Amino acid sequence: MSAPVPDSNLDPAVRHLYVHVPFCPTICPYCDFHVLTRRAGLVERYLERVEEEAARLAHEYAADLGTVYIGGGTPSFLRDAEITALVGSIRRHLGWGRAENTLEINPGTVSPARALLWRDLGFDRASVGVQSLDDATLKFLGRQHDARQAREAVGTLVRAGFRVSGDLITAVPGQPLEADIRGLVDLGVGHVSAYTLTIEPGTEFARRGVTVEEDDERRGFEETEARLTDLGFSRYEISNYARPGQESRHNLAYWEGRTYLGLGPGAAGHYPAPPGGKALTTRRTNPHLYDWLAGEGGEVEAILPGDYVTDALFMGLRLRAGLDLADLSRCSGVDVRARYAGSIATNVARGLLVLEGDRLRATPQGWWVLNRVVTDFLEG
Ligand code: SF4
Repeated sequence: MSAPVPDSNLDPAVRHLYVHVPFCPTICPYCDFHVLTRRAGLVERYLERVEEEAARLAHEYAADLGTVYIGGGTPSFLRDAEITALVGSIRRHLGWGRAENTLEINPGTVSPARALLWRDLGFDRASVGVQSLDDATLKFLGRQHDARQAREAVGTLVRAGFRVSGDLITAVPGQPLEADIRGLVDLGVGHVSAYTLTIEPGTEFARRGVTVEEDDERRGFEETEARLTDLGFSRYEISNYARPGQESRHNLAYWEGRTYLGLGPGAAGHYPAPPGGKALTTRRTNPHLYDWLAGEGGEVEAILPGDYVTDALFMGLRLRAGLDLADLSRCSGVDVRARYAGSIATNVARGLLVLEGDRLRATPQGWWVLNRVVTDFLEG
């Protein structure tokens, strides 16, 4: 990994920024993110509001950014002048990441000229929504790109000098998963995010009654790990794999319980709490596009020490390295080992967790039932 981002979970300076771009060319049938297709005038209003919100965040928090992540939606669907304006607003008010700047990219939006523009704007990491390299699987998923476009897009981004991460969806009926994994790795990605197809309520797939069999889900989970490990990747988080040094520093900030700014409609931020109160941090979730455009501020939740600890356990156990209970006790003021002695002992005895010194981590079996493990802590 290159230069580390100086950080401490509750440092008053915020070192990470997430920006949500809510526009997509079409809406995929499994998607339950906050997205919509573009229409006249909407992107212009979005960009004006980004400028205002970036100025407000700069006024309220000390930003010293290590990472910036522009996600969505499909940020690469923004036209060249639009993405240039978006980056300009961020740089003007909040600065830019010293260690990693990621743009989420849809394969159908890539050309060599655009890849160079994105590099010139300061992006060094591309997260590409490949999902599969099999045309029938992509068609089933309702994606707008085909396998040839996905291959060309990743190749173009690798040649332009990006650190490239490819997204894969697993457990799709009939998907040739092994060929998908090998094909993606052969294109030169150093990072893979692999998520099981899940059918969320309110999506097109839910309306059509599409289901995912638990056996397919489990096979996808195990086969992805086995193939990527053979190919030199390490599963450093439950759904994320990287070659050495290619981990997502931005996403590590979420899993390690750090604070981050959230900008854009529907974006969540995790902020240092005002001094003198009982809360350790606050979370603010912005409203959806039209309320956000109207200037509504979103929901703010004060995170008290006990909630901070359960959130940190939930996120930290997603990491292969797990989390350090002594550090968590120090920064929260909660004696975590004493408070959760019963839940820790029970899950260690079940073979779902391992405690080595102060470090608690999930076993592969623990990852498979992580929600159950975390429920034990919430109820313990
Ligand atoms: S491209 Fe991504 S964000 Fe957009 S609709 Fe499809 S799954 Fe959702």
